[in-house]
Amino acid sequence: MTERTKVILDESEIPARWYNVMPDLPAPMPPPLHPGTGQPVGPEDLAPLFPMELIRQEVSADSYVDIPDVVRDVYRLWRPTPLYRAHRLEKALNTPARIYYKYEGVSPAGSHKPNTAVPQAYYNAAEGTKRLTTETGAGQWGSALSFACAQYGIDCEIWMVRASYDQKPYRRTMMETWGATVHASPSRTTKAGADILAADPDSTGSLGIAISEAVEAAGGSADTRYALGSVLNHVLMHQTVIGEEALKQFAVAGESAPDLIVGCTGGGSNFAGLFFPFLREKLAGRINPVIRAVEPAACPSFTRGRYAYDFGDTAGFTPLLKMHTLGHDFIPDPVHAGGLRYHGMSPLLSHMYELGLFEAEARQQRECFAAAITFARAEGIIPAPEPTHALASVIEEAKRCAESGEPKVILTALCGHGHFDMAAYQRYLSGEMEDFELSQERIDDALTRLPTVAG
Ligand SMILES: *Cc1c(COP(=O)(O)O)cnc(C)c1O
Repeated sequence: MTERTKVILDESEIPARWYNVMPDLPAPMPPPLHPGTGQPVGPEDLAPLFPMELIRQEVSADSYVDIPDVVRDVYRLWRPTPLYRAHRLEKALNTPARIYYKYEGVSPAGSHKPNTAVPQAYYNAAEGTKRLTTETGAGQWGSALSFACAQYGIDCEIWMVRASYDQKPYRRTMMETWGATVHASPSRTTKAGADILAADPDSTGSLGIAISEAVEAAGGSADTRYALGSVLNHVLMHQTVIGEEALKQFAVAGESAPDLIVGCTGGGSNFAGLFFPFLREKLAGRINPVIRAVEPAACPSFTRGRYAYDFGDTAGFTPLLKMHTLGHDFIPDPVHAGGLRYHGMSPLLSHMYELGLFEAEARQQRECFAAAITFARAEGIIPAPEPTHALASVIEEAKRCAESGEPKVILTALCGHGHFDMAAYQRYLSGEMEDFELSQERIDDALTRLPTVAG
């Protein structure tokens, strides 16, 4: 048999259920707290922001949640996504490692984000929401939610981090094509944005600020709610369609299991979506992969952040989340992987990291773009800047295998394409891209403003 390059599943193999990792964990995660009382937040605290079904999923103790047929029907537009065997990359690296990547760039928005945008828009529409607000950094989440809202006929209003708004005008046009309204953040449309601009008229914004604006804008009216593209438990659960398909595809490829699973982490959703189903198998004793998160050295929440209660946004509107954080007003240097520039991390993944269920490392962007170029020249696909972090780790591992002769099986999530990131590639190719050293003082300074937990 010639070895196949990609495994494509039939539409009938789109998962029927999302997998919820929480009941399988050896210890429960610390709950989100109300910043005023220090008590765990209840459903009624979240109801102004999220539809009840998503609040239910956020705290669900069920191992599986059925995917509504109307959501699976929209998933059919691009799912199942292909699993590729990177034969050409392996050859270029002269490695005995077998490298696989699950490619989520085939979605309409070009990343894994529609996997959760579609169900979030659906549950909102079903519960009467007329308008969704959100933030976007590089524009991938905003694109995904715009597309999803168009599927269910609801309005979408987006606060896009100013730096990206200026650098990536075509992502904005993409959102507008699907019918969304886009503001540069900080904006004067909210008090949170206006306050930031009063202090710093030239602010280039951050995800934390844009979240504050979108949350504030959702608070005003009963038929408006807010959607978050990463970090929360229900978002990570929606992304498990990635790993469930990959498990089946591994079986079709005749591989028993990966030895190593690698993903990039911003808020943690594509990484979690890929590895949670494999972790289920690992916890059941059936397989034993090493699992690794890769984050940018400019925003290293796992590797240099503190595991503590902090706000999810800059203005302090969200509940307190126990997570690896660099401080809610930490503004990372402007690396091109905009989707990884979040001060915090998923509380669920943070808890699992503390439990030792996976490892983490941080990488500089020039090394990541070097890996992206190697990958693109071998495999053709031009990766988004975010997954280049995982690719840098994969390539290093594959080179190690070339020395040791070990035929490791490596799996990574190629969670998006980089077609809107040509400016970043141009900077790399012309030698203008810079790495940023993050001083301990800057981290320590931001951490002095962590909230104190009441009670
Ligand atoms: C949003 C995004 C990320 C970061 O978010 P996670 O929740 O960590 O996955 C990474 N890659 C791409 C392509 C993205 O769009």
